[in-house]
Amino acid sequence: MQAFDLLRPSDTKEALALIARHDGAAFIAGGTTVLDLMKCGVTAPLTLIDINNLPLARIDTNERCIRLGALARNSDVAYHPAVSREIPMLSQAFLAGASPQLRNMATVGGNLLQRTRCTYFRDPAAACNKRREASGCDASEGLHRMHAILGTSDSCFAAHASDAAVALVALDAVVEIEGASGSRRMPLEAFYVPPGRTPWIENALEAGELITAVEVSLADARRSSIYLKVRDRASYEFALVSVAAGVDVRDRRFTAARLAMGGVGTIPWRARDAEHLLIGKEPSEAVFHAAARAALSGARTRRDNAFKVALAENAVVRALRDAVGAR
Ligand code: SF4
Repeated sequence: MQAFDLLRPSDTKEALALIARHDGAAFIAGGTTVLDLMKCGVTAPLTLIDINNLPLARIDTNERCIRLGALARNSDVAYHPAVSREIPMLSQAFLAGASPQLRNMATVGGNLLQRTRCTYFRDPAAACNKRREASGCDASEGLHRMHAILGTSDSCFAAHASDAAVALVALDAVVEIEGASGSRRMPLEAFYVPPGRTPWIENALEAGELITAVEVSLADARRSSIYLKVRDRASYEFALVSVAAGVDVRDRRFTAARLAMGGVGTIPWRARDAEHLLIGKEPSEAVFHAAARAALSGARTRRDNAFKVALAENAVVRALRDAVGAR
């Protein structure tokens, strides 16, 4: 690994000033993504700005919302009493990611910014449009069983890796961002950018900006919810398919539905067509299956990942069934 300087600011203002002063510097918090990428030679920042001393680790709750500081550890969020009581889907999603040791280190902000697990992205000898513009995509003829089927482009079809982001997108979470020119807020769903012709642009974060928090409104989140993850082994594995489902059923009809999928999209994938289809319908197997078909209607498969369509449809059906049953 290339040698680097390590700077340790004590507040957000100082951290933002440091990143503005050091060309090619990167923030580091839990380090579970940044150090990985440095070790395999994908990134080589000359300066790391350690933000662990910034006051961004709080989890605040009130009647209206739950606010997760960007430095809150994944395990702290998952086991926070208000999160597990009010939004079980979110707790389940954080617990579905990585291993206990990694969850104790990994932060909320880092989780949202984690990079794809595409093998070729992590191999500097491979052709990868995401890592180097117009260099090609070795995954297209190579190993791509884990790759995305929604939101893909000819340039890149790498799947987004986060579990928590899928649940947070389903929950209409708002991300708070701070930069040299001030702070801003935006829906997390709009934060993520599909690859298109510029797969190296993955989100709306500008150079030198920092995620400071994520906020989830409880008014909409307090409904039956579930996070279902389907993977090759029961622990420490990325999703083949995952589904975050939250529903309200009153007078035997869906009055609200939130559905997002992981493992199948180049970004955490909100299934709006499926949500619209559910509203006003009486829960039934036929309705669950119709919603599942709607959720996957735009899928574009390749040689080795076509199985994900049926897998994802079945996962959506099961998640809806369980979410309705969890009322
Ligand atoms: Fe790179 Fe995307 Fe192709 Fe993977 S799928 S090799 S990340 S361009």
